Amino acid sequence: MNDLVIVGAGQSAAQCIMTLKRNGFEKPIILIGEENHLPYQRPPLSKDFLSEEVGLERVYMKSQDFYDQNNVTVNKSTSVLTIEREDKTISLSDGKILSYQNLVLATGSRVRRLKVKGSDLNNIHYLRTIDNSDAIKEGFKRDKKIVIIGAGYIGLEVAAVAVKKRMKVTVIEMANRVMNRTVDPIISGHFDELHRENGVEIILNSTLEKFEGEKDVEAVVCKGGAKIEADLVVVGVGIQPNQEVAESAGLKCSNGILVDEFCRTEDPHIFACGDCTNHPNFHLNKNIRLESVHNALEQAKTVALSLLGKPEKYDQVPWFWSDQYDQRLQIVGISGDHDEIVTRGSLKSGSFMLFYLKEGELIAADSINNPKDFLISKKLVANKLKISSDVLSDQSVDLKELIK
Ligand code: FAD
Repeated sequence: MNDLVIVGAGQSAAQCIMTLKRNGFEKPIILIGEENHLPYQRPPLSKDFLSEEVGLERVYMKSQDFYDQNNVTVNKSTSVLTIEREDKTISLSDGKILSYQNLVLATGSRVRRLKVKGSDLNNIHYLRTIDNSDAIKEGFKRDKKIVIIGAGYIGLEVAAVAVKKRMKVTVIEMANRVMNRTVDPIISGHFDELHRENGVEIILNSTLEKFEGEKDVEAVVCKGGAKIEADLVVVGVGIQPNQEVAESAGLKCSNGILVDEFCRTEDPHIFACGDCTNHPNFHLNKNIRLESVHNALEQAKTVALSLLGKPEKYDQVPWFWSDQYDQRLQIVGISGDHDEIVTRGSLKSGSFMLFYLKEGELIAADSINNPKDFLISKKLVANKLKISSDVLSDQSVDLKELIK
């Protein structure tokens, strides 16, 4: 019987292996991933890997040597099709059956695909993998027209890179503002202005109807009739968790594989971590599913500690970042539930913070190009600081002094 099998060779899986090995786990590990790559970081795929400022070697988390030296067998281009929990076996796309003592599901998520007319034309891309990022790069040609469907993080990051590549960029968004799902209108307005200043055309309140073209995409048509010429299309309309293998094995899933605070599923021999989980968050006092590197890495550490017999509760405040042009947006906590917003610094200066308060308690913070204050804000949000807006907005107050 194999001691440990990990399904999905993404960032969470690699972190789980690193934590196990750092803590003296000597048994062999089998890693199974459906992509033809070693585990890698996805953030660069819409940022400096897409702009060709960094190469593949900077994207991989570890080289093949690391896995060889640590007794980890990596099975690339292989999918896990089913889990037989009674027998403690899994079946693979290459026909093999593997047994496990413990199984970790780190299956991540996949892009939501559009089903409108013309969706199968050439040059319509999604962005999740190295191969997707490479395919988009191929289409980056000066003065060609790129249309991006969806003004979320991915869409806007691609827009910023396409501008660098001197393309004509149009972004189509269904909502009435960019990044509407994740940030406050103040941040949306800031990035909307930034993109427009850089020459991006943003069309809000507009729903895609179909793509037109013979073989390659030639135009994007919106409901209401607006037609935008396109040589290249990138779609970024959200993702969904890869939970089907778990679900068909009878594990409880609801917008992700349900795990407890130790990243255990209801089966004592099956754990899950990363984008694919729906988990309790003690800071927010509710169950959530997150799509972020921080969550993928921290949950992976939680799984590793559970496997090592030293379980530690997953107790993290969510945080996330996005890079667009020379602006880094960093977000800690979850806003939306707030009753007050406090600005620290001026929006015009390009470096500022927004603090979100609920009944005087700090619940979230956004930072634009202010990494120092962001770092401190992570602690302040974790501490659920009770504070008056005057103190937070006063730049003569050193935020560090507010840490208890
Ligand atoms: P994944 O990285 O999705 O890895 C899961 C792997 O499992 C995949 O390779 C998948 O193919 C494989 N798999 C699935 N099912 C099976 C199966 N049945 N058998 C075998 N293998 C399987 N987060 C941030 O915090 N900041 C950012 O700036 C940021 N930028 C991003 C930019 C892009 C372009 C993308 C795509 C994501 C970005 N994210 C960012 C999100 C972040 O990358 C993810 O949250 C993180 O990669 C999740 O890691 P994971 O290991 O849980 O899942």
